[in-house]
Amino acid sequence: MEEKNTSSSTERFIPMTSMNSGEGIEIAPDLYSYTIQVVNVTFVGLPGNPDEWVLVDAGMPKSANVIIEAAEERFGKGARPKAIILTHGHFDHIGAIPELLDHWQVPVYIHPLELPYVTGEKDYPQPDSTVQGGMVAKMSPMFPNEGIDLGDAVKPLPLDGTVPSMTGWRWIHTPGHSEGHVSFFRDQDRALIAGDAFVTVKQESLYRVFTQELEISGPPRYLTTDWKAAKESVQKLNALKPACATTGHGIPVAGEWLADNLEMLARDFDDIAKPDYGKFV
Ligand SMILES: [Zn+2]
Ligand SMILES: [Zn+2]
Repeated sequence: MEEKNTSSSTERFIPMTSMNSGEGIEIAPDLYSYTIQVVNVTFVGLPGNPDEWVLVDAGMPKSANVIIEAAEERFGKGARPKAIILTHGHFDHIGAIPELLDHWQVPVYIHPLELPYVTGEKDYPQPDSTVQGGMVAKMSPMFPNEGIDLGDAVKPLPLDGTVPSMTGWRWIHTPGHSEGHVSFFRDQDRALIAGDAFVTVKQESLYRVFTQELEISGPPRYLTTDWKAAKESVQKLNALKPACATTGHGIPVAGEWLADNLEMLARDFDDIAKPDYGKFV
């Protein structure tokens, strides 16, 4: 078998955590956001059906066992997703993939523009430790930026906007945080899986990441490379008027809080989200 270069982006445990690590919140009967240290994965599917669900995003490096355990607890013994669907390829959203694929052998889907970062062709830019923000931004040089190589296991999302094995959902291109970043939306109940297009914790602040203090926030600053596109992406999501949302970082949100805060973020994006200085500004 051909040797895969899964490189250091999934090999190193990153010693950062939050109070919510290992906890999950259900925001719809079939939508469950689960926290791995400082990042969330979303389980899509009704509990108790071990073969009828999908995993959106794949957590921190070295977290495969935690994800498998959480999946079995929710869906039943031997739980195995139909697919792993990625919002983007940053290390904290793909960290467990190599080990998960050893265990599950399921297809992985990502936006075509993000594909080169998970097939070993491209690396993300180095995180910007000089960006305006808190301690996490300063620590970000320890975050891996190398693309991984998932080989044939990873496929592009279909161009018609449908999401494999997620009936009723469509993917929405929300670039800015990364080139091929996507969010997922279900028109029926206006549920949103936002990924890192916006988040609900100030991800640059080590203290707020630890306490998971609720606050609408733009995409994590140290990894966001195109602020104009990031703003347009938030406006695109706000226009959908989501009723509830899971985000890549921070707790899931719904109702009036989400409506008011997303509206404010879309309107005042340059003040709230965009840093005053940094190498990508
Ligand atoms: Zn990210
Ligand atoms: Zn992230």
